[in-house]
Amino acid sequence: MAILRKREIENLEQLSGEELERFLDSLPERQETVSELLDHLEDELYESECDHSLRLSMKFMMDRGLNFPKFTSWLNNNGGYCDCKVMEQIAPIWRRKFGDD
Ligand SMILES: [Zn+2]
Repeated sequence: MAILRKREIENLEQLSGEELERFLDSLPERQETVSELLDHLEDELYESECDHSLRLSMKFMMDRGLNFPKFTSWLNNNGGYCDCKVMEQIAPIWRRKFGDD
């Protein structure tokens, strides 16, 4: 039997005040860094197709010396199994909450 676990990111829209702060504290990286990753992926995927890995995300993390095991597991837990899934599953919710830039 498949267990459908609700993705943390799906609750983001409802969060405010202390709850939102707790969410931001629980992120693997700073809010701005996540926004930068989304912008970066959008640009890169405009130029090239997703190869169904987190190749572009990994490169972004490596270039900045980020904690990529932690960051990729957060992406995976929120449905971002590859670069295009990050854009499909995480970016719309993230941007609705925090804006486009
Ligand atoms: Zn993909």
